[in-house]
Amino acid sequence: MFFYGLNVVSDFHIIGGGIIGMMTAKELVDAGAQITIIDRGAFAKESSWAGGGILSPLYPWRYPKPVNELAYQSQTIYSEYCMNLFENTGIDPEWTKNGLLIHDAAYDLPACQQWLELFPTDYELLTGEDIRQKEPEIALFSQQAIYLSEIAQVRNPRLSQALKSYLVQKGVEIKEYCEVKKIACSHSRIDQLITTGGNIEVKQLIVAGGAWSAQILKTVGLAIPIRPVKGQMVLFFDKKQRVRNIFLADSHYAIPRRDGHILIGSTMEETQFDKSTTVNGLKELKSFAVKWFPFMTELSVVQHWAGLRPGSTEGIPYIGQVPGIAGLSVNAGHFRNGVVTGPASARLLADILLKRVPQLAAEPFSLHEEQLISA
Ligand SMILES: Cc1cc2nc3c(=O)[nH]c(=O)nc-3n(C[C@H](O)[C@H](O)[C@H](O)COP(=O)(O)OP(=O)(O)OC[C@H]3O[C@@H](n4cnc5c(N)ncnc54)[C@H](O)[C@@H]3O)c2cc1C
Repeated sequence: MFFYGLNVVSDFHIIGGGIIGMMTAKELVDAGAQITIIDRGAFAKESSWAGGGILSPLYPWRYPKPVNELAYQSQTIYSEYCMNLFENTGIDPEWTKNGLLIHDAAYDLPACQQWLELFPTDYELLTGEDIRQKEPEIALFSQQAIYLSEIAQVRNPRLSQALKSYLVQKGVEIKEYCEVKKIACSHSRIDQLITTGGNIEVKQLIVAGGAWSAQILKTVGLAIPIRPVKGQMVLFFDKKQRVRNIFLADSHYAIPRRDGHILIGSTMEETQFDKSTTVNGLKELKSFAVKWFPFMTELSVVQHWAGLRPGSTEGIPYIGQVPGIAGLSVNAGHFRNGVVTGPASARLLADILLKRVPQLAAEPFSLHEEQLISA
């Protein structure tokens, strides 16, 4: 364990108790560090609660290589990661390998083939008959689909509860309902957090504030290009459990949960920090659902919500130390893929901070002076 002076002060303070902040804390506490996480609300009630939990980028070949590298590394450990949390906490994140059926991938085939060469994974090219066998209730609009049988999902609210419980057991200090108003620096080094719960001395600080990371970093004069991108979701319940696979088409998806719930997502809206749900959002998601699964007209909406994704350039998160400000690091900007890329992102930042040899090249995620337009 690392100690500073006579008082035990946390080695690392993390702003943000979402999946990214908590996964980062897990990596560091597992390595023996002392951690405090601070959130202005309850943990994991923002994007990490709102998300769908598909453990793959949607149409992965449309994302740049660094995003796929994070996703690929995470996918190899996710099942064990969830099992370990379940064993330690009794909370099951419901890691479930349903497979991902991509119905409108036919015109993407060359890009898909290139992606498969870089990131080998089991896949099948399906004809109309195969599609019907895998999804008997589907309305067919094409005779071709791609099926990625290894793709799994988690139930992210449960994953978050398990993470929080694990961190509490490991002695991580949890500060909820404590908003960070300002990061104070002295001689180009971080010094204190000015919060609604008083001032907190910090030695090493990690900003994992999701869509709010830019606002937080602005208080030290940095302008990092992370913006909120609203996504609405609708939940149905089908006791007959007629959707079998994670299903993707028209840039929308259906996720069948183990208990018969079906999650339909999601909208993509640039509405600043407004996360209200709308009639148009509901219409868009319902019409996708009944277009592909006509039986869903029978089902009523269980819940409708929205969350704010931390949008970044090409969806590539910022992971690393902030140049020019000693003690300050960032793990933010995971856009649509924070659940699938979380474990690898956390490991990469821990490798950098603990001076271990990173398993992934850090450069694509590094912050450069020119990106950090002074606010
Ligand atoms: C509709 C939707 C569907 C999605 N589907 C998927 C999917 O299927 N698969 C996938 O991989 N990803 C998905 N995502 C993306 C994923 O949810 C996010 O990338 C991920 O949750 C980001 O986690 P985070 O911890 O960075 O942010 P958040 O979960 O938003 O956490 C940030 C935390 O910082 C706190 N905070 C902010 N400002 C302050 C402050 N000043 N002081 C203290 N605390 C502060 C907030 O309260 C919050 O708890 C989806 C997102 C949405 C919205």
